Amino acid sequence: MALRKYIFVTGGVASSLGKGIISSSLAKLLQSRGYSVTIQKLDPYINVDPGTLNPYEHGECYVTEDGAETDLDLGHYERFTNIPTTQNNNVTTGRIYQSVINKERKGDYLGKTVQVIPHITDEIKRRIKILGTKRNFDFIITEIGGTVGDIESLPYIEAIRQLKWELGPTNSLVIHLTLVPYLAASAELKTKPTQHSVKMLLENGIQPNILVLRTEHPLNSELRKKVALFCNVEYNSVIESIDVQTIYEVPLLMQKENLDGTVLRKLDMPEGDKPEMKPWKQFVAKVKNPKKSVRIALVGKYVELQDSYKSIMESFVHAGAVNDCKVELTSIQSEKITEANMAGQFEGLQGILVAPGFGDRGIDGKILSARYARENNIPFFGICLGLQCAIIEFARNVLGLVDAHSTEMDHKTPHPVIDLMEEQKGVTNKGGTMRLGIYPCSIKEGTRCSRVYKDLDVLERHRHRYEFNSSYLDQFEAGGMIAAGINPDTGLVEIMEIPGHKWYVGVQFHPEYRSTVLNPHPLFIDFVRAALD
Ligand code: GLN
Repeated sequence: MALRKYIFVTGGVASSLGKGIISSSLAKLLQSRGYSVTIQKLDPYINVDPGTLNPYEHGECYVTEDGAETDLDLGHYERFTNIPTTQNNNVTTGRIYQSVINKERKGDYLGKTVQVIPHITDEIKRRIKILGTKRNFDFIITEIGGTVGDIESLPYIEAIRQLKWELGPTNSLVIHLTLVPYLAASAELKTKPTQHSVKMLLENGIQPNILVLRTEHPLNSELRKKVALFCNVEYNSVIESIDVQTIYEVPLLMQKENLDGTVLRKLDMPEGDKPEMKPWKQFVAKVKNPKKSVRIALVGKYVELQDSYKSIMESFVHAGAVNDCKVELTSIQSEKITEANMAGQFEGLQGILVAPGFGDRGIDGKILSARYARENNIPFFGICLGLQCAIIEFARNVLGLVDAHSTEMDHKTPHPVIDLMEEQKGVTNKGGTMRLGIYPCSIKEGTRCSRVYKDLDVLERHRHRYEFNSSYLDQFEAGGMIAAGINPDTGLVEIMEIPGHKWYVGVQFHPEYRSTVLNPHPLFIDFVRAALD
């Protein structure tokens, strides 16, 4: 077995402190020194994966190339490191228990009582160690979801304690992320919550090696010394993580704090190459100093929770930087869009994106948005359900197919222009059964997409059950909406365009899952450019 170093990232005091961003930033910095890194998220909930969770509960569900429905942090991992994650990069308690119970039924533990320790903890350790067995990595970063002290994360903390002991001091370390609150009344930063949180980890047998302190104000050396002394860590292992304008600044801040250098020293690893962060710095400079701005409507039904459309929002940050502009997204709740108010809702907006989604809540507003964009020559980008809405709208209002719909919303529609895929017809289980993951798409020559992609063979990620009903394709093409991308193996329509329109593209796949800092997605770049025009 190649020598791999394990880094565990835990969190304390409060949730949402940004463990995913710290893990991604560390990965980026280690990469910049020539090391290979992967990041894994362990989620302590009982769903087997977040695929069946409402975005209001858990934010966006991110989809990997190999079709795993995962936590949105995996999106950050990919956006920062540019390395695809897989099924093994996100593990939940549900998945752990499912494997253990399946083994029990097979008789693998015959004669034994199956228990949290050792069986559940062994399975957690196996899931951590499985990473890097197919592809070699120098570092495996494992982020533990939740907050230390939660009942449900106890088996994970115990598994890490055991692994840390098994691997030895220079092969693994624990980074603990906490919050240092600022009390405005006394103008003071408080370290006590951090001390308590570390104490809780210690009660579970883990002495953290590095502390990352999230703060709104700079930490002075006195405060750092105090934390170091009371939490048993070295002075230079107390790292400040101050609030920043954009998450993409965090790697640069961590570099200043020498998080990567400290990790390498503690894990007895050479310093590696001279860190190359120039392209990253250029990107951050563009994000922070846009020359112009563009306003784009994001039409969806989960808009009240920002995290629901995380990858779409980040794709706009990447595409904005390429276009030297700030993309100001105006979220519009699709349930609130009506024929009477839509002109007002879209006033002053230079582009309309209709987001993915499921079920019929807010569907009429999405269909109206597609119509408004088409009739007013406003750049339009439909993603997954967004494409399906554009197709329904075109069928009804251009082709005169009255009451055309998707059978997802109306299974008795006389014109099922969007219908269940053949292979979906017998499927009854909801979890993990959609068309998921990467599929090829052949782009038709001469289309807008062929110019945008500059390639006729592309790979994109999917997450849907319904699709365009190809028996209507001739009518659509005669009416002015053409298929610009087709799956070469199945003939399924993956992209529709209106050639005469300023920019009108709908895609059945999710380009937002593929946009990264170093590889911004061409469709987002071109859509923003069209909106700017
Ligand atoms: N609900 C639609 C389907 O299942 C679209 C899914 C999506 O937007 N991700 O086909």
